[in-house]
Amino acid sequence: MKPVIALVGRPNVGKSTLFNRMTKSRDAIVADYAGLTRDRHYGDGRLGQREFIVVDTGGFEPDSTTGIVKEMAKQTRQAVAEADVVIFVTDVRTGLSGQDQDIARYLRQANKRVLLTVNKAEGMVDSPLLAEFHELGMGEPHPISAAHGQGIRSLLEAALADF
Ligand code: GDP
Ligand code: MG
Repeated sequence: MKPVIALVGRPNVGKSTLFNRMTKSRDAIVADYAGLTRDRHYGDGRLGQREFIVVDTGGFEPDSTTGIVKEMAKQTRQAVAEADVVIFVTDVRTGLSGQDQDIARYLRQANKRVLLTVNKAEGMVDSPLLAEFHELGMGEPHPISAAHGQGIRSLLEAALADF
């Protein structure tokens, strides 16, 4: 069985860009606005000889009856339940948000291996802006740039360490 890696995070942090990077595809829809990738989306990835499955999520689906937060939580729950490893994606450009805190709270009790990832960190490996992400209590953040392909290999090495 290939390990399943779920990409979880609030809208617009770069999950679909990371998905494309991990699967070397253009399959996921990358949008300049939040919430376009509405359904979970699966792709095949490979690191050396190791193969894995990546699950992208839309983050949330605006819905007037259930509300944004509820839908986001549902998407996140479904993706997490299927996953062996969760890559929790945040965004150094916008900084830590309340939604990040909500997702972190959920992930802490979900009993999955979680890798905290700070995206859009091109040229910012040593930036003090990364420090606040320690507040999430999910270990050392992995700075990456999904768009520029930085930090992806070491992230995947860490994600697949147990497989
Ligand atoms: P999603 O909603 O989490 O799936 O985010 P997307 O992958 O659709 O990306 C949202 C926006 O962030 C798009 O404009 C991307 O081009 C941009 N983006 C994604 N990754 C990076 C990155 O590493 N650096 C920068 N500067 N922008 C990025
Ligand atoms: Mg997306």
